[in-house]
Amino acid sequence: MSPRTVMGQNGAMTSPDPLRVAVIGSGPAGIYAADALTRQSREEVAVDIIDRLPTPYGLVRYGVAPDHLKIKGVARSLREVLERPGVRFVGGVEFGRHVTRADLARSYHAVVYATGASVDRRMRIPGEDLPGSVAATDFVNWYCGHPDAEVESFLLDSEEVAVVGAGNVALDVVRILAKSADELLRTDIPQPMLDVLAASKVRRIHLLARRGPLQAKFTAPELRDLGRLDNADVVLRPEQIDIDPNSAAMREAERAARTNLKIFTEWAQRPARQCPRSIELRFWVRPVEVLGDERTTGLRVEETELDAEGRVRGTGAVETLDAGMVFRSIGYAGTPLPGVPFDEATRTVPNSEGRVLDADGGVLRGDYAAGWIKRGATGVIGTNKSDAAATVRSLLDDAAELREAAGGLEPVEDVLAGSGAGVTDYGDWLSIDAAEAELGASLGRGERVKLRSWEEMYGALGR
Ligand code: NAP
Repeated sequence: MSPRTVMGQNGAMTSPDPLRVAVIGSGPAGIYAADALTRQSREEVAVDIIDRLPTPYGLVRYGVAPDHLKIKGVARSLREVLERPGVRFVGGVEFGRHVTRADLARSYHAVVYATGASVDRRMRIPGEDLPGSVAATDFVNWYCGHPDAEVESFLLDSEEVAVVGAGNVALDVVRILAKSADELLRTDIPQPMLDVLAASKVRRIHLLARRGPLQAKFTAPELRDLGRLDNADVVLRPEQIDIDPNSAAMREAERAARTNLKIFTEWAQRPARQCPRSIELRFWVRPVEVLGDERTTGLRVEETELDAEGRVRGTGAVETLDAGMVFRSIGYAGTPLPGVPFDEATRTVPNSEGRVLDADGGVLRGDYAAGWIKRGATGVIGTNKSDAAATVRSLLDDAAELREAAGGLEPVEDVLAGSGAGVTDYGDWLSIDAAEAELGASLGRGERVKLRSWEEMYGALGR
């Protein structure tokens, strides 16, 4: 392909001299950036969405829980963007390994980093690294069939486990641990992982929040899902939802907190149904030590309270839970991209309205950020749409300068030749997609079952 011709996934040609943009990451933020870039009429733009995986959709594919089919349906609207003229998917290419920022400068006027926040935050307590003390992010990757996850990483051989954190990821993890294999049958969880879940010995799940019911970050629809499980009782002691004086004002102020409190109150009042599993929700406890010699055998927790400024402090009252596994679900963090400025404190790429800033706070021409790597791991999928659109507005405002600064651009194919990348395109993704649909049908499980390794995915491409 000549550098002056750009072809969309559907083969349609775009203008010979478009503004050429590489988006790194094909999750919602990256695809929404491509959407905003190709939906406007100020500039003709050609976008390559580059991902290290041969599959698009980022956290929609490898983060959204497999039983949240409605949220997973977002992929359908993201697909429409990938199939738009002027947009290409370039899979199998890892930024920093196969291509550097300098390489991309040879082919693009601008680069948008939309790599998300893929690692876990740490509890920073003794015993955290014992086997059996795990990051929720790793468990999520595992049950979502991320190709980096090994089947053997999780055994689920303990009757009692603890999940630390009061956010929606913790609810996902608890739900997947609590559901029966039959309830998960019609999801896309890879078969070997479903077999492990089917053999799970987990009976009692402690869900631990370090602050109170009004401060929990759970959202109401996700809480309601938990309350509706057939296979597990949610157990909440009535005294747990007493409102402490330092939180009382919040009850009046925040609608979301009031809605959550209503749900917690229902839970505290309803009788247990004697389900096979129980989810015991505890507020006002924080983990202080993971116990065990060779593997996790318990979790020591300390009761907490809020001080007058709303900060969490320990009361000194400790107790031990017999948890054989501890899942820390206390938020996601971004990882540095080679050669790109990074703020270790916020774990994001420093930026002003999406323009990447260098160490002195100056704008790095041609570099932009969108999504979680820009603002941190907050908000729902849709939040990334307005976030990416704001970044794209900055980029388009800079277009004249970006064109002027770039010399003659080379086709990215030339830049990638010899990089060692197993480059894939949108057609390859459709082949993987079809193979997953076939697998789902052959196992009698549903719309799709994921291929779970690099070998299986590249195998489906005959490579
Ligand atoms: P989150 O919403 O930020 O929740 C993190 C939780 O961890 C908070 O309750 C926080 O408590 C707690 N925490 C932090 N440090 C802790 C520590 N050292 N010890 C104990 N607890 C600690 O993060 P998330 O659950 O990872 O979710 C990330 C984003 O994805 C959120 O915006 C979430 O809504 C979204 N999401 C949505 C869905 C969905 O189904 N809609 C599913 C998954 C994720 P404090 O508040 O006290 O800091």
